[in-house]
Amino acid sequence: MRIVSIVGTRPQLIKAAALLPALRRRHDEVFVDTGQHYDETMAGVFFGELGLPRPDHSLGIGGGSAAEQTGRMLPAIEAVLVAERPDAVLVYGDTTSTLAGALAAAQLGVPVAHIEAGLRSFDRSMPEEINRVLTDHLARWLFAPTRSAITNLATEGIVDGVALVGDLMQDLASRTSAEVRDPASLAALDLDLAPGRYLFVTVHRAENRTPSAMVAWTALLASLAAPNRPVLLALHPGTAAALETAGIRLADDVRVIAPQGYRTTLTLQLHAAAVLTDSGGVQREAAWLGVPCLLLRDRTEWVEAVEDSGGRMVIVGLDRALAAATLERLVPGNAGPAMAADRAARLHLEPAGAGEAIAAALE
Ligand code: UDP
Repeated sequence: MRIVSIVGTRPQLIKAAALLPALRRRHDEVFVDTGQHYDETMAGVFFGELGLPRPDHSLGIGGGSAAEQTGRMLPAIEAVLVAERPDAVLVYGDTTSTLAGALAAAQLGVPVAHIEAGLRSFDRSMPEEINRVLTDHLARWLFAPTRSAITNLATEGIVDGVALVGDLMQDLASRTSAEVRDPASLAALDLDLAPGRYLFVTVHRAENRTPSAMVAWTALLASLAAPNRPVLLALHPGTAAALETAGIRLADDVRVIAPQGYRTTLTLQLHAAAVLTDSGGVQREAAWLGVPCLLLRDRTEWVEAVEDSGGRMVIVGLDRALAAATLERLVPGNAGPAMAADRAARLHLEPAGAGEAIAAALE
């Protein structure tokens, strides 16, 4: 098949890196980058690190509101589809680029394949939820990562074209896990961190960028941070800008670093005492790596990650007391270093086989 695949954000570049080897073995792929994420740390770095091909079309859409981005993407994607005449358009996840790609394709009558179909947080105030629901209802092929995603689709009357393929990001994490398990990979980062003696954090969801939410999670991080257990926050540029606008400062033991590359992020997760995040990708990676994980959200669309974690992943929202009590329960006293060493020594992550399953299903 001739397939136009559309990416635009950090997690989509990572998912594309997981899929493209399998996809390109069986299909003729045209790789399109909308440029929704455009700076070096959020996009550029992943091309080199993950061996992504140069995009056949870089749309250079850039920033702005979701409506502005969607408005610029639709005609730009339409022009690519008219020129390339694909048999299908493939979109990933739940971003503005996902929805714009699906909508432009559907309007031209080009069938849409959606990777990570069927996920639901059941919270329509989240922009991602709108993007997922609409994309699923436009899609001809729906590649679901989990059983609950299949159930969610069925509840909305979508059963045709649905396939359970597993989680593409697990394939990439599996491929990379051997490179990060040696504690020397943490030392090599030169961040002055000891295994099990720091907390690794990412925060980027829109619901955590309101002034009241930022006051709550910065206070939560401050309360967990200590000189002998610093918090390492890999700060998303959108969150950094929101903190700056609101004039919110982080506590001294909360160390802010720029967004990191993929391998560095896996390294920082694996050897941490615990991970705190609102990211869909980071929470699953924490689950696969076996790291205790506190979710800085009220709900998650990755319900299996929580259910299958053996209690290691807990939704704490922005509740400071609950976060502190949960962290102490999951990583009691000084257990962090021993837990991290044990986890790294045992790490063995099987691939999900999602890339092959998707490429084969399209064939
Ligand atoms: N990630 C990264 N650098 C960072 C933070 C996250 O490479 O500084 C990776 C992370 O390991 C995961 C993906 O980005 O593979 C998750 O993307 P993100 O959190 O931006 O979006 P979400 O998964 O919530 O859609």
